[in-house]
Amino acid sequence: MAGEYNGSSKASESVFKIPPIKFTKLFINGNFVDSVSGKTFEAIDPRTGEAITRVSEGDKEDIDLAVKAARQAFDHGPWPRMSGSERGRIMMKFADLIEENVEELAALDAINGGKLFSHCKAMDIPGAARNLRYYAGAADKIHGTVLKLSKGFQGYTLREPIGVVGSIIPWNFPTIMFFMKAGPALAAGCTMVVKPAEQTPLSALYYAHLAKLAGLPDGVLNVVNGFGETAGAAISSHMDIDKVTFTGSTEVGRKIMTAAAASNLKPVSLELGGKSPLLIFEDADIDQAVNIAFNAIFYNKGEICVASSRVYVQEGIYEIFVKKLVEKANAWVIGDPFDLRVNQGPQTDKKQFEKILSYIEHGKREGATLLTGGKRLGSKGFYIEPTIFTEVKVNSLENNYAIEEDMTIAKEEIFGPVMSLMKFKTMEEAIKRANNTTYGLAAGVITKNLNVANTVSRSIRAGIIWLNCYTAFDVDCPYGGYKMSGFGREFGLDALNQYLQIKSIVTPIHDSPWH
Ligand code: NAD
Repeated sequence: MAGEYNGSSKASESVFKIPPIKFTKLFINGNFVDSVSGKTFEAIDPRTGEAITRVSEGDKEDIDLAVKAARQAFDHGPWPRMSGSERGRIMMKFADLIEENVEELAALDAINGGKLFSHCKAMDIPGAARNLRYYAGAADKIHGTVLKLSKGFQGYTLREPIGVVGSIIPWNFPTIMFFMKAGPALAAGCTMVVKPAEQTPLSALYYAHLAKLAGLPDGVLNVVNGFGETAGAAISSHMDIDKVTFTGSTEVGRKIMTAAAASNLKPVSLELGGKSPLLIFEDADIDQAVNIAFNAIFYNKGEICVASSRVYVQEGIYEIFVKKLVEKANAWVIGDPFDLRVNQGPQTDKKQFEKILSYIEHGKREGATLLTGGKRLGSKGFYIEPTIFTEVKVNSLENNYAIEEDMTIAKEEIFGPVMSLMKFKTMEEAIKRANNTTYGLAAGVITKNLNVANTVSRSIRAGIIWLNCYTAFDVDCPYGGYKMSGFGREFGLDALNQYLQIKSIVTPIHDSPWH
């Protein structure tokens, strides 16, 4: 098998029996249908690069049909009109059905996305159920406020569902991304057209099937597989979609915002890329810091928007930190994502795989030192060794410390298992370097010093700061970007507000005894 790393691990062929793929068509208005054009495309297994199955390929015409169904369901259907508690009850049932099918759903994300089956089974799929239950519980607590106005008027506000939502999601967390948007949107009473990433359509179609079983009325949740420039672009420019929610690259986020502005000025929320820093101070517990730093970039093979691809270690512990990091890398197992001993599966697709390898070559050419990894593993599938660069050069010095990295690998989002490891002297330097990026999604700080923790976490311009931990997500904890990492918040009750709008109703008070 492709995945052996430094001879310290033995990753075997999968023994898990992959269930047959049940759903491959588009889901529009409560039915699985072929695309209008009849076209299909391959869903690929990144362990081999071979096709698992073919799925229907949606295009503008299919998006039009899905939007028509979602519009009808919003304008005339029961979903936005039923009580919040009734919507919540159906969402709870949806969550139960997800849990009943956890193995099959986990297998779909593992075989189609190269994600660890064990993680999908323990975290991603139960996380979807938890997400639905969280927002189901919020559905009957959406209300406005009473307004006591001047000059003899009074009023109140209503918080109404925003309408038909277009959801365009990426491939790195097919399930979590689906429900990060669908949970709050459905609770708000919106109807949806979801376009999964072309790399990972399989679990989204299964969720459409479960939604119907749970009792979601036809047209409320439509799933159209397809490519970004056709199906995705048709969503962002659609005149009958009221809001677009997107997670993916900054480049595509810009295109979506432009298309939304040029069509019906629909609001968009964008969760985009990152180049997140992790700052490790000299007082840190070294073993704990090594563990956190390693998992912060190599979890999900580096395909995670918050990945801490820039690790800054204070000079006093740098040498020992490097030694322990290499030991950790040597014990890391790469291989079949269904094998329970494996820590890292294949990259999601060939395009990503080649992009990551080309960044690694770039790093070597620019003169960074390759500490570990740097190569593909095996001859089939999209496996890459966990790769750590040191001696990542800086281009300027201010008061004798570095303020900016000079190398592409330390500036651009690689979205793969590649860490740039750097040394710093003072807290002020670390803060400057951490902030010296166009992104602002996440950051981590490892220290026992409360003053340092407080100062650094308030000084870094990013949507979430993890202190002495990393990637600690929770549905009750909002997160999203500063700067070019986007805007809008996912998770928490803040996310619900993205799918609601406020209407004020004002009326005069006649003959009030108080005037
Ligand atoms: P992408 O942004 O191209 O794709 C994400 C989604 O957008 C997919 O569903 C895609 O079909 C759709 N899309 C693409 N072009 C579109 C368009 N013109 N209009 C509307 N929708 C469109 O991401 P990618 O090419 O799959 O990956 C490229 C890079 O994006 C990665 O290397 C990584 O840096 C970043 N990325 C970030 C995240 C994240 O969680 N923030 C997730 C995936 C990828």
